[in-house]
Amino acid sequence: MAEKNCPSCHKELKLRESGYPMGSAFLKADRVHVDIYECPECHEIRLYSSDGDMMTCPKCGTQHNVKEACPVCALNAALDEANK
Ligand SMILES: [Zn+2]
Ligand SMILES: [Zn+2]
Repeated sequence: MAEKNCPSCHKELKLRESGYPMGSAFLKADRVHVDIYECPECHEIRLYSSDGDMMTCPKCGTQHNVKEACPVCALNAALDEANK
């Protein structure tokens, strides 16, 4: 697996959770499994899809499975909906 680095600090990201099931708590959509990485310097959280072919979301830059919706955008959309 390629190294994942923070886009701002260029530190190597640390894996916090592997295969974390995302989406089910907030969304009716299918579960998406993501690996959660954190930058040791600025503590920015980055999400990467755990399985399948990857693509980079054009909106937020998160890498996710090509067959799935972007977990970050989906979560943001759900939170926006909840705040209306
Ligand atoms: Zn950073
Ligand atoms: Zn996105």
